[in-house]
Amino acid sequence: MAKETKTRTEISELGEFGLIDRLTSPFGKTQKSTMTAVGDDAAVIAQSVDKVTLVTTDLFLEGIDFDLVYFPLKHLGYKIVVAASSDILAMNALPEQLTVSIGVSAKLGVEQLEEFYEGVRTACDEYGVDLVGGDTTASITGFVVSATVIGSTTKDSITYRSGAKQNDLICITGDLGSAYMGLHLLEREKRAFEGHSNPQPKFEGYEYLLGRYLRPSLRKDIVDELEKAKLHPTSMIDISDGLASDLLQICKSSDHGARIYLDRLPIARETYAMAEELHADPVVAALNGGNDYQLLFTVPLEMREKIGMIGGIDIIGHITAKDTGTLLVTPDGAEIPITAPGFR
Ligand code: ADP
Ligand code: MG
Repeated sequence: MAKETKTRTEISELGEFGLIDRLTSPFGKTQKSTMTAVGDDAAVIAQSVDKVTLVTTDLFLEGIDFDLVYFPLKHLGYKIVVAASSDILAMNALPEQLTVSIGVSAKLGVEQLEEFYEGVRTACDEYGVDLVGGDTTASITGFVVSATVIGSTTKDSITYRSGAKQNDLICITGDLGSAYMGLHLLEREKRAFEGHSNPQPKFEGYEYLLGRYLRPSLRKDIVDELEKAKLHPTSMIDISDGLASDLLQICKSSDHGARIYLDRLPIARETYAMAEELHADPVVAALNGGNDYQLLFTVPLEMREKIGMIGGIDIIGHITAKDTGTLLVTPDGAEIPITAPGFR
C-alpha cells in the first residue's frame, strides 16, 4: 500500500491573518445583500437602498484571553460587550443588539454566572445595547464566551479600513499601552502570590492601569462627536491587537504607507511609571500591547482644526504612498519599519 503523505503547516507560519485568509478565501458571495464579508471590523449587509446592517463576533477563552484568577467575572461581562461592540464603532456605526454564548466549566456556579451577566447588563445599559439571545453549553476546558454584536447605519456614513488616502492625518483616541501594563501588573502579582491561601496583592496607586485592562470604555462618545462635527473619517479600525498591527491593517487595506512619530504617541504617565518599574519598554507596550479598544482613524489634512476641537484625539502621523512603507519616525529622524507580532 502506498504510503500517504500528509503535509502539516504550522499556524505560526501563516500568522493569524494569513490563517483567516487561507480558510475564508475559498468562500464566494451568493447574496446580493452581502456587501462586505471577511476583512474589516464588521461584516456589512445591505438592509434597504440606503441602510446597512453590521455584524461582528468575538471569542474569549479562559487561559488565553482572560485569567479568572484575577479577572472579576463582572468586569469580564462588561469587557466582552465593549470588545465586541468596538468593532461596530470602528465602522462608524453604533451597536444595537448583542448575543452572548457561553461554554460553562464545572467550577462556575449560578451566582458567578449571574455576576458575569451583571457586567454584561451594566455595559448594555450604559451603551444602549439590547441582549437578544445566545447559546449555553458545557465546557471541559474552561470558561468560553462568544459575543456577536449587530449595528446599523447608512451606506454613506460607513467607514471601511480601506479608505485612507495620501496625506490623510492619522488620528488616535485616548492613550496606548496602559491596558497592557495593567495586565502585566496583574500577572506579576499572580506570580508573587502563587500558592498563597490568602493573597494580598498591592494595587493602590495602579487603579488607572488596572481599570484600562479590566474595564475598558467603549469609545461611543467619539463616534457621536465625529457625527456632530460632520467629520467623516476616510478609514477606521479599533485597536484590539495593538497600534502596529492595526495601522498595518489600514495601510494594507488602503494600499498606502504611513509615517507615525514616536514622540506623538499618546502614552499615559502611569504607563511610563509602570514600564520603569517592570523594566519594560513603554513604546513597545503602546505599539504591540493591544487591548486598548481605542479608535484609530484617518481624516483629510484640512480637517486638522476640526479634530483639535473635539479634544482627546492625537494626530500621530500621516498616510504616505505605498512604496514608502509603514514607518515609525524617532525624534532624531530615524525611520523604523513597523512590523506586527505574529499569532498570539
Ligand atoms: P477584529 O480584531 O477586528 O475582531 P479579526 O482580526 O478577529 O478582527 O478578524 C479579521 C476579519 O476576519 C474579520 O472580518 C472577521 O470576521 C474575519 N474572521 C476572523 N476569524 C474568522 C473565522 N474563523 N472564520 C471566518 N471569518 C473570520
Ligand atoms: Mg476590530
